Amino acid sequence: MTDAQVIVVGAGPAGSTVATYLARAGVDVLLLEKTTFPREKVCGDGITPRGVKQLIDLGIDTSEDAGWMHSRGLRILTGDLTLQLDWPDLTSYPPYGVSRTRHDFDDLLAKTAVKAGARLQERTTVTGAITDERTGRVVGVEAKTGPEKTPVSYRAPLVLACDGVNAKLARSVGIDTDECRPMGVAVRRYYKSPRHDDPFIEGHLELWDRSDPRNPKLLPGYGWAFPLGDGTVNIGLGMLSTSKAFRNTDYRALLRSWLDSTPEEWGYREENAVGRIGGAGLPMGFNRTPHYRDGLVLLGDAGGMVSPFNGEGISSAMESAQLAAEFVVQALARPEGPSRERALHGYPQALKELMGGYYRLGNLFAKAIGHPKVMRAATKYGLRVNPLIPLIYKGLSGCYDAKGGDAVDRMISLAARLTPSA
Ligand SMILES: Cc1cc2nc3c(=O)[nH]c(=O)nc-3n(C[C@H](O)[C@H](O)[C@H](O)COP(=O)(O)OP(=O)(O)OC[C@H]3O[C@@H](n4cnc5c(N)ncnc54)[C@H](O)[C@@H]3O)c2cc1C
Repeated sequence: MTDAQVIVVGAGPAGSTVATYLARAGVDVLLLEKTTFPREKVCGDGITPRGVKQLIDLGIDTSEDAGWMHSRGLRILTGDLTLQLDWPDLTSYPPYGVSRTRHDFDDLLAKTAVKAGARLQERTTVTGAITDERTGRVVGVEAKTGPEKTPVSYRAPLVLACDGVNAKLARSVGIDTDECRPMGVAVRRYYKSPRHDDPFIEGHLELWDRSDPRNPKLLPGYGWAFPLGDGTVNIGLGMLSTSKAFRNTDYRALLRSWLDSTPEEWGYREENAVGRIGGAGLPMGFNRTPHYRDGLVLLGDAGGMVSPFNGEGISSAMESAQLAAEFVVQALARPEGPSRERALHGYPQALKELMGGYYRLGNLFAKAIGHPKVMRAATKYGLRVNPLIPLIYKGLSGCYDAKGGDAVDRMISLAARLTPSA
C-alpha cells in the first residue's frame, strides 16, 4: 500500500522545484511541508543569473512586471576600494540576477508545484523515515499533521529529502554532517532605504566598526545588501566555520556595529529596520553525503549544497531538483530492483559532475579565507590586478560557462577538474 509514487519532504526551492518537474512528468507526488504558505524564511533573497536560469527553466516569468527586482551586476566593497561589475555575458545564464523576499518566492514556487499537479500538504512535520526492517530501505515517513499534530505515516517507493539545513530525515537514517567541510552562519534584517532600487547587489568584503573614528576596527565576516525594490534592502552578514571567530561571535551585535558605521544616508539604522534579525546555518560544499542511498534522495541544503564561494544555495537547490527529477522519472519507469537502483545512483554521479569539482575548489577557498591575513591580501592585492578580476568574479559567483566559454571560463573549469578531493 502506498500513498504516492514519490514523497517530497519540504517545500522550499528544492522541494517545490522537484515536485513541479515530477508532477509535470506524470508522477504522483505528495509534497509535505511543516509550515503554511506564505511564510517568512530567513535568507538574503538574492538570486544570481545561475538561479534565474533555473526559474526560466521552470517556466516562471522573471520580468520586473511579474514582481522581481532585477540586478545588473555586483558591487564589491572593501575598506578602500569599490568595484562595480555587470553580470558576465554567457551562453549558459542570462545577464541579470533577481531578488524577491522568500515570503513571496517560496509561495510562488509551491503554487507552481500545485499547479503542475503535486499534492501539497502543509502543517505536516516529518519526524523521521520509515525503513523496511528486512532491507533497511526507506519506504515512507512518519509525520505529525494539522493543528492537533496528529501522528501519521505515508508510504512511497521513493522519498526525497528537501527539508533544509536541519536535514532531520537524512539524520534519521544516519546520514550525518561531515564536520570537515565548511559551514556558514548568516544573519539578516530588512531596512527601509533610499537604496532599495539600486540596480547592483552589494558584497562587503570588509566590515568596519567606525564608532571610534580614531580607532576603526576590522570586524570578522562578510556582508551583503540586496535591494528589493519595494522600499527595503535585505542586509546581512555571514561567517565561515573556517574562521576563528565562528563560534564565539554575537552575530546580531556584529550586524548592528557594522551598520551603525555605514553612511547615515543609506538608512541602515534601527529606526528604519523592518522586522527582526533572523539567522540560520549554511551547509556548504556537499557536507552531507551520500546524496542517494536505499530509497532516500538528498537535495539542496539537506545535501549540504550551499556554495562555499558565496553562500548561495537557492540555485544549487533548484539545480539538484532538476537533476533529481530526471533520474527519478527514469527510475520509476523501470521495474523495482537493480535496474531502478542503477538509475537512481546516476543522480549523485551527475550532481558530482555538475558541482563536485567546483565545490572541492570552494572548500579549499573557504579554508584559505578563514585566515584573516589571506583574506586581507586577497582583497587588498587580488582585486587591484585587472586581469584577475574576471577570474575572481566569475569564480566566486559561479557564473561561468562550464562547457566552452572564454579563457577565464575554461580556467575555472580546469581548476575545478584538477582540484584533488578534500
Ligand atoms: C541568512 C541567510 C541568507 C541567505 N542568503 C541567500 C541568498 O541571498 N541567496 C541564496 O541563493 N541563498 C541564500 N541562503 C541559502 C538559502 O537560503 C538556502 O540554501 C536555500 O533556502 C536552500 O533551499 P532548500 O529548498 O534546500 O531548503 P529550505 O529553503 O530550507 O526549505 C526547506 C523546507 O522544508 C521545510 N521543512 C523543514 N523541516 C521539515 C520537516 N521535518 N517536515 C516537513 N517540512 C520541513 C521547511 O519549512 C522549508 O519550507 C541564505 C541562507 C541564510 C541562512
